[in-house]
Amino acid sequence: MAEEKQQRAKVLCVDDEPGVLQSLTRLLKKDFEVYTAASAEDGLKVLEDQADMAVIVSDYRMPGMNGIEFLKEARSMTPSAARTILSGQIDINELSEAINKAEIHRFFLKPWENDYLRLQIHEAVQTHINLSEKSHFQHLAITDPVTGLTNHRYFQDLLREKIEEQTPLALLMVDVDHFKSFNDKYGHPEGDRLLRGIASTIDNFIEQKGSVSRYGGEEFSVLLPQFEKRQAMELAEQLRLHLAENPVPGPGREAYVTVSIGGACFPEHTDTPQVLIQLADDALYKSKGLGRNCTSIAEAS
Ligand SMILES: [Mg+2]
Repeated sequence: MAEEKQQRAKVLCVDDEPGVLQSLTRLLKKDFEVYTAASAEDGLKVLEDQADMAVIVSDYRMPGMNGIEFLKEARSMTPSAARTILSGQIDINELSEAINKAEIHRFFLKPWENDYLRLQIHEAVQTHINLSEKSHFQHLAITDPVTGLTNHRYFQDLLREKIEEQTPLALLMVDVDHFKSFNDKYGHPEGDRLLRGIASTIDNFIEQKGSVSRYGGEEFSVLLPQFEKRQAMELAEQLRLHLAENPVPGPGREAYVTVSIGGACFPEHTDTPQVLIQLADDALYKSKGLGRNCTSIAEAS
């Protein structure tokens, strides 16, 4: 028998007046899964556990954080939740600024008319669906399907952005040694599994220190903001040893791989993104030439 009951959209209501929360719950619980919070701070705690919140209905005047401040915070936690304010009084300048900056999507006046509000919440759920789809496609556009890392395009954009903002950084190009022979021996599906394992190893190793992308083929790029030459060399060596000494997770067989790494720094070596990539690539080929499984950093110009 088909499951008839569709999963209901989640709605979070935040208001410092218990009576308002009770009325909203009574009104909305038939159509939606309703969560309540008596303050902005408690509302943020609810969102921590409910990443798929569809709609947030917030009061404006509350002790502590007000409704607009709360929804700004909420946007960074659950960007695809539709954000609405339900209030009797509001600073109209603050409201229009928040709407213009897309911090809030809708505004409703207290006291509200029940049927109207319920209909509006259904429409807000549709806003949420549209936002989710948009972020899904944005995610696809910057994600490498094989490894789940960010892709070449994302890397190029990020590098250009960082250099435009004058953020000092190091770029490491990391290439898997003898990958072609692994592919030839075990086939491409095994090769892809190996790449996924290497990608997650590098990503977990770099953590918050930088951004790892699949540059292409079996080559990864690692952008390390605020890293200068010596720190980049140290981290690259640690990464190289970590890979050489630990089996790659995921593939059907226990696989050990080595990588060759080349690095270059902005602004130390160059101030153009394309030259930085070229210098890191040259250093990578130097590592290959030295017999692989080693790290080289560009010479100071
Ligand atoms: Mg209030």
